Amino acid sequence: MDRQRDFRTCLLLLVLTASSFGCASSGYRYGSASHYYTSQELADITGQQIERGKPRKFVDGFGWIWGIPSKIILWDRRMENHDIDAQTEAELAAYLQENELSSVKVRLNQYNPRDDWRRLVANKAVGPGWRYTLGAVLVAGETIFPGRLFGGDHYNPFTNTVHLYSNSPAIAWHEAGHAKDFARRKWKGTYAAAYLIPGVPLYHEAQATNDAISYVMATRDPAMQREAYNLLYPAYATYVGSAVSDPTGIAYVGAVLVGHAAGRWKSRQIPDLPPEARISQNRMPQPSNRISAQPSGSDAEPQTQQAVYSDSGYSQQ
Ligand SMILES: [Zn+2]
Repeated sequence: MDRQRDFRTCLLLLVLTASSFGCASSGYRYGSASHYYTSQELADITGQQIERGKPRKFVDGFGWIWGIPSKIILWDRRMENHDIDAQTEAELAAYLQENELSSVKVRLNQYNPRDDWRRLVANKAVGPGWRYTLGAVLVAGETIFPGRLFGGDHYNPFTNTVHLYSNSPAIAWHEAGHAKDFARRKWKGTYAAAYLIPGVPLYHEAQATNDAISYVMATRDPAMQREAYNLLYPAYATYVGSAVSDPTGIAYVGAVLVGHAAGRWKSRQIPDLPPEARISQNRMPQPSNRISAQPSGSDAEPQTQQAVYSDSGYSQQ
C-alpha cells in the first residue's frame, strides 16, 4: 500500500510542478549581469566561453552506448550522443549572451579537468568552505569519471561550468538555466549543498526547466517549443521519480511515463505559425526584454519588459 501512496504522491508532485512550467502569459525575464554575484577572477580566466572536445571515435562510441538508457528514458536518440552540432552550440551561445552570463564556461563533449580545477580555485563567488569540500569532491568526480565516457549533462556551480554531451538545444538551455539560477544567488555553496537533501532537487530543477521553457516560448518557433516540452517534461519527471523512495523502480517508470504524456499534451496545445509568420520564423526577436539595471542607491523595483509569443508572433509587454 505504501507503494501505491508513493506513486500517488509522485503523480501529484509531477502534475502540480509541471503544469506551471513556461506559462506563455508570464513571458520571459532575461537575466542581467548587474544582478549577478560573480567572480572577476573567474571571468578573467574564462577566455573562449564555449569549447568542444576533439571527436574520438572509440571514446565517443563507448559514450554513445553507455548513454543508451538516457536515450530510452527520454525517447530521443540525441541524448548523450557525444556529437553536438553547430545549431545546438549557436542556441546555447545566444542564451548565454542574451542573459549576460559571461563567466560561464561550456564544455561540449570536452574533458579538461586541469582547467576545471583552475576554475574551482578562481571562483571566489562561492565561499572557500564549500568550494574546497563539496566543490572539490564534485570536480574530483568529474576528473575520475569523465563525462566523455559516462555522459551526464550537468552544470557545476563550483566551477561555473556547463558540461554537455547531448545534442539538444532544450537540454543545453536547461543546463544554462541552472547557471542563470546560481548566478543570482548570493549563497551559492549553501544553495548547491541543499541539492543533496532529498526532494530539494525538485526546486532547483524546476527553476532551470521553467527558465528554459519560458525562453523557448518567448523567442523560438513552435517546432522548438514542442521539442522543449517533449524533452524537458519527462526529464523533470525523472527527478520526481527519484524523489520517491521505491526500490522496485515502478514509481520512477510511472513518473517518466506521466512526464512524456504531459509533455506531449502541452506540445499539442502549441498552435502552428500562421503562413505570413513562417517566412520570418527563423528571425529571432532582439533581447530587449531585459531587467533594466537599477540606478545606484535606489530601492526602486527594476522595470521589466517581457516578450510574449502569441499566435500572431512576438509582442513586447
Ligand atoms: Zn537540471
